[in-house]
Amino acid sequence: MPNLILLGPPGAGKGTQARMLTEKFGLLQLSTGDLLREAVAEGTPAGKAAKEVMEAGGLVSDDIVTAIVSDRLDQPDVAQGVIFDGFPRTVGQAKALDALLSEKSLELDVVVSLDVQDEAVIERISGRYTCATCGEGYHDTHETPSNPDLCDSCGGSEFKRRADDNAETVAQRLRGYHAETAPLIAYYDGKGLLKRIDAMGDISVIGQQLATAIAQADA
Ligand code: AMP
Repeated sequence: MPNLILLGPPGAGKGTQARMLTEKFGLLQLSTGDLLREAVAEGTPAGKAAKEVMEAGGLVSDDIVTAIVSDRLDQPDVAQGVIFDGFPRTVGQAKALDALLSEKSLELDVVVSLDVQDEAVIERISGRYTCATCGEGYHDTHETPSNPDLCDSCGGSEFKRRADDNAETVAQRLRGYHAETAPLIAYYDGKGLLKRIDAMGDISVIGQQLATAIAQADA
């Protein structure tokens, strides 16, 4: 099964698309943001080191993030194929990932950049929330559940917003994206692995383009 990276600024739809690909192809979503939030909630040493940086919208150190990814890649379910969501975010992490993949005899098949404009990112992030039970994503103006108090997917009645989804932190995360992560577009283009998708449009159309890119890479 294919291994792929979803690149893009916060709010590009990486998490949403990764969830759809997981349902469609059984791929494993490896989100460093989710793993770090778990580490913070559990109070592990990595979580304690990451907490403040995450609250400020900064980037957690390459060493911490790479160690978390390395551990996750040792689980047998990576054989399903992995979607790297939110990792790598720096050229240092990309090089560390190259080393990890070769050490674990895994290969990268495609890197998809989800391209969105900064203004859209701010608008998307400031209105987003998820079902606390199943993780289904919603947005205050674009996508509310048909009954506003119940999740369409699982019927859950609790919703949550991320602590770092506020205007100040989003601006910081966007700066981080442009300074540290956008150079990865050229890095993976140089390796012949890059596909770019205009991610300003309809979620299901973007999903189809992504599925096509993956099928081509896996052929
Ligand atoms: P995300 O859920 O991908 O938006 O990540 C939330 C926060 O976790 C980011 O703003 C960073 O503080 C941290 N984070 C997630 N992934 C990484 C990464 N690959 N490198 C550094 N920090 C990360």
